[in-house]
Amino acid sequence: MTACEIRTKVERPVLRERGQHEVFCGLTGIVWLHRKIQDAFFLVVGSRTCAHLIQSAAGVMIFAEPRFATAILQDKDLAGLTDANEELDRVVNRLLERRPDIKLLFLVGSCPSEVIKLDLSRAALRLSKQHTGKVRVLNYSGSGIETTFTQGEDACLASMVPELPKRETDATKLLVVGSLPDVVEDQFQRLFDQLGVPVRFFPPRRSTQLPAIGPDTKFLLAQPFLADTARVLEERGATRLAAPFPFGVEGTTAWLQAAARAFGVSDEKLSAVIDPASARAKVALSNAKTRLAGKRIFFFPDSQLEVPLARFLSRELDMQLVEVGTPFLHQAHLGAELAMLPADVTVSEGQDVERQLDRCRAARPDLVVCGLGLANPLETEGLTTKWSIELVFTPVHGFDQAGDLADLFARPLVRRTKLEV
Ligand code: SF4
Repeated sequence: MTACEIRTKVERPVLRERGQHEVFCGLTGIVWLHRKIQDAFFLVVGSRTCAHLIQSAAGVMIFAEPRFATAILQDKDLAGLTDANEELDRVVNRLLERRPDIKLLFLVGSCPSEVIKLDLSRAALRLSKQHTGKVRVLNYSGSGIETTFTQGEDACLASMVPELPKRETDATKLLVVGSLPDVVEDQFQRLFDQLGVPVRFFPPRRSTQLPAIGPDTKFLLAQPFLADTARVLEERGATRLAAPFPFGVEGTTAWLQAAARAFGVSDEKLSAVIDPASARAKVALSNAKTRLAGKRIFFFPDSQLEVPLARFLSRELDMQLVEVGTPFLHQAHLGAELAMLPADVTVSEGQDVERQLDRCRAARPDLVVCGLGLANPLETEGLTTKWSIELVFTPVHGFDQAGDLADLFARPLVRRTKLEV
C-alpha cells in the first residue's frame, strides 16, 4: 500500500452556471432508502406525477408489502378548499392501523405540497404525538424545485439526526454516514473490525438501531452529497474526517486511512489488513483499463458523484477528463478530491443545459455521463452515454466493487463498438 497524503485545498477556477437544468427530484432517493431502512415507510405527499415517478423508478414490490406510497393531493386540496391536514391524518392513521410493522414513517414533501405550503413538520409532530411509543414520524422534502435527486437522501438522513440518542460513554466511535448496499457495508464492517476501529453505520438497517452520537464521534462520509447531514451532525458535536470518497483503490485506501489515523492505527497495520483486497481490486481494474485508457469523458451535473468518479477514472484508469460538471460543489467535502484532479480539466457547478450541450458537442468526447433526459438525444447524435443514476443504484464503493465500477464506464464503449461493426 502506498500511504496517500491528502491535500484538502487547491485553488482551481470553477465555471459556475445558473440556468435551466435537467435532473430528477429528491423523491428518487426513496428507491434505495426504502430498501436500506427495512422498517421505514415513505409516504410522499404529492401529485399523480410524483406517484408515477416513484412507482416507475422503484418498480412494484411483488413479494412484500410496499414500503412507499403517495398520498395524492386532490384539486380541492391544491385550491385550498379542504383541510389537507385532516385528510393526511386519516391516511396515516389508516396506514399505521393496517401496518404495525412500520416503526418509522417519513412524510415526504413534494413540489405540490411546497407550493400549497402544507406544513409537514407540524404534521409529523402531531402524528408522532398520536403514535408515541409505536411509530416515529419524521418529515423531509423530496421536491424538485432547485434540487437534484441525491439531495433526497441528504434531507432524509438530516431529518433523522435529531433522533440519534446522545452517547454517554467516553469511547470514541466511528460513524460511516451515507446509505450503502448491505453487501458493501458488510465488507467495510469486516475491514474496520480487522483494524480494531469501532464503527456504526448511518442510516442503520432498522430504525430501532439508531447509532448514538456525542462530541467524541468522528464520522466519515461515504457519499459526497450529504452536506446538510454533515452540518447537523457537526452541530451535535461530531467531527468529520476529511478524506476522498471510497471509489476505486486509491479513494478506498485514503478513506480507510483517514479513519485508521484518527483511531491510532499504524500505516503498517492498515497495509496488512487492506493489501489483499487492494491487490485484487488492481487486477480487476486492469481489464477495464485497456478499454478506457486515453478515452475522453464529459460529466453533466446530476448525481453529485461526478468529482470523485472523475478522480478515479483519471488517476486509476487513465481516462482524459474534458469537463466535470456537478450540481453543487462543496469545497470542504470535495477539497481532497479536487486536489487530485488534473490541473487543466474544466470543473463546472450548476447548469445552463443548452450551453453545456454546446460545449459537449464541440468537444465530441468518447463517453458522456448524464441524466436519462439527455442520454437519448445525445445517443442519436452519435455520442456514447452512461446514465449517471445507475451509479447510485449499483454497489460501487470499496475495493471489491472497483472492477464493477470501472466496467460500468467500459460497457457503453464496448456496446458502441459492437453497434459500429
Ligand atoms: S416532487 Fe416535483 S419534480 Fe418530483 S415528481 Fe413530484 S412534482 Fe415532479
